[in-house]
Amino acid sequence: MTSYFDEHDCVPTQSNPATQEEDLLDLIRRLLSNDEFDDHLPFGEKLAPPASKQIVDKLPRRKPTEKEILEQTKCPVCLLPYDDVIIDMPCEHCFHKGCLLPWLQKTNNCPMCRHELLTDDPAYEEYKKQKEKEKDRQFRVEQLHNSMFG
Ligand SMILES: [Zn+2]
Ligand SMILES: [Zn+2]
Repeated sequence: MTSYFDEHDCVPTQSNPATQEEDLLDLIRRLLSNDEFDDHLPFGEKLAPPASKQIVDKLPRRKPTEKEILEQTKCPVCLLPYDDVIIDMPCEHCFHKGCLLPWLQKTNNCPMCRHELLTDDPAYEEYKKQKEKEKDRQFRVEQLHNSMFG
């Protein structure tokens, strides 16, 4: 017997974080290699607004550590070893300044883990708050459900 998915020649959609991460990095590389950045996204998702300039200015800049130089630790975006100035994100991922800054001028999240920085966009911040509230509400409904039926 064939399953629905065999018949329709497709596989169940499942979000695969590894693929999404590759998509995102790919997008950044295209952005960096091409000034004419179009908004055509590989994973059908709208980009969040740019990170707040104030926040970006406050991200710590540093030189690569001796360990990073010795081990030739590579920037996840351009895959070249850290050499000049590195920026640490709050999520503890770090990138070349020259790789991260153009990206954060496009959207507010870490290329590796999508950790979001604050934006200057009040509408987006409001949307984020609503999303948090909704998550919280769902969590409490689940808890209530579990306490009654669990
Ligand atoms: Zn880089
Ligand atoms: Zn990160």
